[in-house]
Amino acid sequence: MTPPRVRIAPSPTGDPHVGTAYMAIFNMIFARHYEGGKFILRIEDTDRKRSRLEYEKTVFDALKWCGIEWDEGPDIGGPYGPYRQSERYDIYKEYCQKLLDSGHAYKCFATAEELAEMREVNAKLGKKIGYDRRYRNLSPEEIQKRLSENQSYVVRLKIPLTGECVYEDAVKGRMTTPWADVDDQVLLKSDGFPTYHLANVVDDYLMKITHVIRGDEWMSSTPKHVYLYEAFGFQAPIFMHMPLLLGADGRKLSKRKNPTSIDYYKETGFLPEAFANFLTLMGYSMPEDKEIYTVEEIVKNFDPKRIGKSGAFFDVSKLDWLNQQYIINHYSEDQLMAKLKSWAFNDEMFSKLMPLCHTRIKRLSEFMELCGFFFIDIPEYNEQFLCPKGLTPEQTSFILQSFIWNLDNREDWGREGIQQASFEIAELFKVNHKKVIMKILFASVTGKLQGPPFFDSFAILGKSRTRARLLKAIEFLGGLSKKKLTDLLHHYEASTCNELVGK
Ligand code: GLU
Repeated sequence: MTPPRVRIAPSPTGDPHVGTAYMAIFNMIFARHYEGGKFILRIEDTDRKRSRLEYEKTVFDALKWCGIEWDEGPDIGGPYGPYRQSERYDIYKEYCQKLLDSGHAYKCFATAEELAEMREVNAKLGKKIGYDRRYRNLSPEEIQKRLSENQSYVVRLKIPLTGECVYEDAVKGRMTTPWADVDDQVLLKSDGFPTYHLANVVDDYLMKITHVIRGDEWMSSTPKHVYLYEAFGFQAPIFMHMPLLLGADGRKLSKRKNPTSIDYYKETGFLPEAFANFLTLMGYSMPEDKEIYTVEEIVKNFDPKRIGKSGAFFDVSKLDWLNQQYIINHYSEDQLMAKLKSWAFNDEMFSKLMPLCHTRIKRLSEFMELCGFFFIDIPEYNEQFLCPKGLTPEQTSFILQSFIWNLDNREDWGREGIQQASFEIAELFKVNHKKVIMKILFASVTGKLQGPPFFDSFAILGKSRTRARLLKAIEFLGGLSKKKLTDLLHHYEASTCNELVGK
């Protein structure tokens, strides 16, 4: 076998997701298993609104914490760079032009209104595609005329009108999709920037990727990619779609309900080697159902046939069990002590806490009473504390969820951001900031009624741990159904949340 070249292609649009580490570790294992294999990290930052350089750095750090190393990437370079898509725009334009020249793509002048109307009509007709291909066959004169009028356009791929897309997925087997169900995919947007599909295929080709190992949530895109390779006249890589990560409820692991940031697992004190082991247990089984092993062992024994076809459960109780096995069997008492110190019992942490407790303790032993919540994961909740002033559990949950949305949107979970968000939520629900909002937030994060200054505590605890507590408090109060969430979002966007608390 020629040495494989595999990649992960994260988009730096949020906190480092456990799904990124899951894919990264399997790609790395695959590359290391075969002699001369290479593992590439490419940053897909074509979503210009949501991509941030800071997130890119957090992805690198989080992956390194899991013990994942790559051979080529934006931080270390390599022979096929640049490895950041925002530095490759000219390449995508050039490749898109090739498709226009060969007649595999066309300019589409549909306006937003036209597209909305087409979508509605096609939905009524029960069609799976939203666009009716009305600009697919314009004459050169018609195109010229529109261009001279400066009409804005996108470039679309001419998906075949009949037949079906067939490809062999190395995990799932033969996949078949009728072309009639595949939209003429936009390749270049009206601002001249590429879509994920164009940039992803061009880069996988130019970076000589041999196997695309990714989550099966991307499978709906694969027919488009298969056809793009064909249209370019490139040999397509082998596709291997790994099972989707599922939460304990059997649904797609989602930030809405579960802590999905790698930082949370790091900061609540999981051991990186246990976490890496845990990631490989999902979607893969070692011979004899062995569950505890090193990355080197799985690299040595790796067999793609042992990849599961369906859902991989991200079961935190399993991770807890595994972590404990590592502590018991791989850590001496001295090593555990060193681990605890580096985790939270260190000068850095204590010096952050001193301004909070200096004037608030009578005896030294009260320190833990006051600051214990910094050293635990989820506090014990008390419904009364969480629901001040006669609020129902559901109403408190609405407030907490809106607070999370506010912070997620402002992308600032620091002291200022949290303070600002708390005032905005008080205003939104028309409730007292101090007597309602602050009480709810404090009880969600600490489990208590009072304690050290709130905003400072939040900031020290950090985004991923704070966010997890807010979610857990909602869960404790009974959770919010999808319908309730949709309804809440509607009120949130219309600034009518006060109707939900009726005060
Ligand atoms: N940019 C995509 C992501 O965020 C890459 C998907 C793929 O591997 O093709 O995961």
